[in-house]
Amino acid sequence: MREIAVGVDIGGTKIHFALVERDGRIVEQEIVPTVAERGGAAVMNDVLAGITRMLERRKALTGYGEVSGIGIGSSGQIDFATGTVVYAVDTLPGWTGTPIRQRVAERFPHPVYVDNDVNVIAVSEKRYGAGRQYRHFVCLALGTGVGGAVVADGRIIRGASGAAGELGHVSVDFNGPRCSCGNYGCIEQYASGTGIARLARESIAAGGLRLEGEPTAKAVIAAWQKGDPGAALVMDTVIRALGTAVSGFIHTFNPEAVVIGGGVSAAGAAFFSALEAEAEKRTSAFMWRATRILPALVGASSGVIGAAAQVWEYER
Ligand SMILES: [Zn+2]
Repeated sequence: MREIAVGVDIGGTKIHFALVERDGRIVEQEIVPTVAERGGAAVMNDVLAGITRMLERRKALTGYGEVSGIGIGSSGQIDFATGTVVYAVDTLPGWTGTPIRQRVAERFPHPVYVDNDVNVIAVSEKRYGAGRQYRHFVCLALGTGVGGAVVADGRIIRGASGAAGELGHVSVDFNGPRCSCGNYGCIEQYASGTGIARLARESIAAGGLRLEGEPTAKAVIAAWQKGDPGAALVMDTVIRALGTAVSGFIHTFNPEAVVIGGGVSAAGAAFFSALEAEAEKRTSAFMWRATRILPALVGASSGVIGAAAQVWEYER
């Protein structure tokens, strides 16, 4: 009998449900839109309904044992010990305070684990991806924002309120633009999709970058890859900012690897080699030698796979 678990990845725009095997393979899956404007209680009901559908689909499969558990990753800050949403931004109104684990555990007779969306990506990379051979690594997810997770001695670090690893809110410029967290010049202001789009708009206004259509991060990266000099100026800022942050994380955690995923990291090999050169310049040689910068391996389903894999990661 092969082992199987339910994974749920709750984001601001979609909820991804899957039945995942212990080796990280997705057996069944479903993606539904997050109808965030109906509020946190309605989103919670959609999560419960989706889990019910996954358990039904499990019954139609042969060759698997009972579901080993239910693992959930959610955007926002999650208290892993209680499985409650400590804080969620406005993309999920009313989500703050939702006792996710309690709501799922009172409905289903399975072990339930709930963590934030980047910590579960770290679980994915640790078990199936770029983090497999490492006991110490840092994960960065360069998406709409910048998410982070830190694995030290083979375990995700949690901190006093379960929110450790919010690496996107480490500042690289104390005079930089104000961030939603209250700080100035957070790395999220430069290396996220929204940060790159902001830098692009500023460059266009100053007469540097010229782009046809919306100045999205994707458009800037595409122009940079074609050798556009205006896009190169923008990406130079992105890479210097990110290299500064990565150097800080290397000095703080002495990781064996910095694993970088998310849409922005799809900028590819040129992006990674430029980032490596920038981070190396800013890092003590003996610490740099212990570290490599690697692209995340698990890909777009990393969230739901890591969410499910919590069931095996934390089994007694
Ligand atoms: Zn911030």
